[in-house]
Amino acid sequence: MMFDNQALERQDLLLLRLEEPIGQSSEFQAKLAPCPNPNCNCGEAVLVIQDGNFDDKKRDLKGIFLLDLEVKQEKLRIKDVDAGFHFNPGYMQFALRNEQMFDAVKAQIRPDDWKVLRQSYYALKAKLIEEVPLEYIDADFGAESLADPSIMFLYHEVFPQARIWNVELDGKVYDLYDMYCVDDKCLCTNMNLNLVIDGKQGYTIFYDYSKSEAKTADTRTLSIEEASRVMAAIFKKYPSFNAMLHEANNRMRLIYRKFRQKNETKLFKKPTPAPQGPSGLGVPFRN
Ligand SMILES: [Zn+2]
Ligand SMILES: [Zn+2]
Repeated sequence: MMFDNQALERQDLLLLRLEEPIGQSSEFQAKLAPCPNPNCNCGEAVLVIQDGNFDDKKRDLKGIFLLDLEVKQEKLRIKDVDAGFHFNPGYMQFALRNEQMFDAVKAQIRPDDWKVLRQSYYALKAKLIEEVPLEYIDADFGAESLADPSIMFLYHEVFPQARIWNVELDGKVYDLYDMYCVDDKCLCTNMNLNLVIDGKQGYTIFYDYSKSEAKTADTRTLSIEEASRVMAAIFKKYPSFNAMLHEANNRMRLIYRKFRQKNETKLFKKPTPAPQGPSGLGVPFRN
């Protein structure tokens, strides 16, 4: 195990221990920078490793190592740095040390380490998704939803790597996926919680987050008792569960409104001829 996510006080940092030193050190602090696209499901991240204490603002090449990762397929690459980096006077030294770091990590990385990297990746990605301003989010809710805005949508359809509500009870793992009414003219607080038990899908809880009222969709497959115990455990684990669902519902409605406005204007707008560049070549045109 070379990556440790428990050893440091800062939750977003990892401690990296190598068998042999690189330069003076065999212990480094590292941080993942996940792909910033809130809508994607790629698993890609840059691993920023720093000799000494990690400093988010320090961006010179001295004491920094950069690796590219794909945490789902467990792929590791040397960071392909921006062209601008090559003009930095310390670049050659950086490239040499970075290659040493890549070789060391590649030789020593184990399945446990990938697990730590994945945990860190998903935690950071979920946080990024909660914090990204709405103007950067685009989602396609499909043409059917324009005709029938009462269709419900999973939060995970828009944000495939968002947080999953989960609890463990009597040796069973319960994962809940939240699903919302996105009709931006509606103010209802009714939603569905899709329940996955031990990886098996297919249970629905109807839930009203303004009243904390839960009903099972089908009591033959999921008893009222089991659903109530799951909900009690969820409330205990996530004290602001209702407020977070409310917040997520608002976001989903705003994202849907953006989608609807964009598509309705598209339907009614007259096609504009593409502008021509001075040389007569078509200029790529985007609105
Ligand atoms: Zn991505
Ligand atoms: Zn509604």
